[in-house]
Amino acid sequence: MSFVKSAPSFRLERQPLDLRFRRAVLAARTWETSTYMRVRLEGDDLRGFTSLGSDDHMRLFFPAESAVDLDAIRQSPSREYTPLAWDAEAGWLEVEFAVHGDQGIAAPWAASAPLGSTIGVGGPRGSMVIAGRPDAWLLAGDETAVPAIRRFAALMDADAVGRILVEVTDAAHELPVAAPRGVDVSFVHRGDAFPGVALAAELDRFAEQDRPDGDVFGFVAAEQGIVKSGRRLLLERWGLASDQVVVKGYWKSGEAEYHAPH
Ligand SMILES: Cc1cc2nc3c(=O)[nH]c(=O)nc-3n(C[C@H](O)[C@H](O)[C@H](O)COP(=O)(O)OP(=O)(O)OC[C@H]3O[C@@H](n4cnc5c(N)ncnc54)[C@H](O)[C@@H]3O)c2cc1C
Repeated sequence: MSFVKSAPSFRLERQPLDLRFRRAVLAARTWETSTYMRVRLEGDDLRGFTSLGSDDHMRLFFPAESAVDLDAIRQSPSREYTPLAWDAEAGWLEVEFAVHGDQGIAAPWAASAPLGSTIGVGGPRGSMVIAGRPDAWLLAGDETAVPAIRRFAALMDADAVGRILVEVTDAAHELPVAAPRGVDVSFVHRGDAFPGVALAAELDRFAEQDRPDGDVFGFVAAEQGIVKSGRRLLLERWGLASDQVVVKGYWKSGEAEYHAPH
């Protein structure tokens, strides 16, 4: 008797995008909690903006007030962020920022740059698109991964099943994720612990027998230290294929302008 393995229910497909560099201005900011905010960027250059993948990233450039021409903006310090929502016709783009104190470039800009400030937007230069339908989902991350997690959750159909775990400081800092009824959304409170440790402990608690049936899509992103627990769970205990999961450090404690390996 021959055993034929059926095709996976989904594949992650890489799709290139033409790299564009755009200029925009800060049009509005909305605080969701005292340490998390959404900004709206506007500008004619944002017409035609596209982002095909839920965990796409673009490079945001933060120029000095005096920089106005594109070349000067392109020389400015930059950081990676996830496009959350946009209107390619109207020319706006929304981005969410974890505001982690007054260190760094991006978070202080999001928290306090005057409305009308110029920003550069480079990319996304490519996307990872889910082709097909995962049988189940496991999404886990900290605040920096919430935009990607919200975008993945928006892709799920009404019958989707899975788990979403989000690490935040405490109950007052929880960031809601709209997901179908069969997808359990829970929050892990780090309190004063080192970022990612509480989330890693939750992932470590999932056993082999907790693996959902079928083809599971796994996404884990937080402080770099999460990568070990994410891989141990998804690749080792659950045996998922490495090309059906994304496990990434989105930032690294003590390191400015961290570049996640792609
Ligand atoms: C693919 C990808 C997508 C991302 N999408 C988003 C997104 O949509 N929203 C978002 O908020 N972030 C996102 N990030 C994370 C963001 O790029 C980093 O947090 C970045 O370092 C912030 O830049 P900064 O200028 O504020 O701080 P930096 O100048 O880079 O760092 C200054 C100091 O702050 C620390 N630090 C940086 N980030 C944090 C944090 N979150 N909490 C505590 N300490 C921190 C650093 O370790 C360093 O010590 C993403 C990262 C990647 C790789």
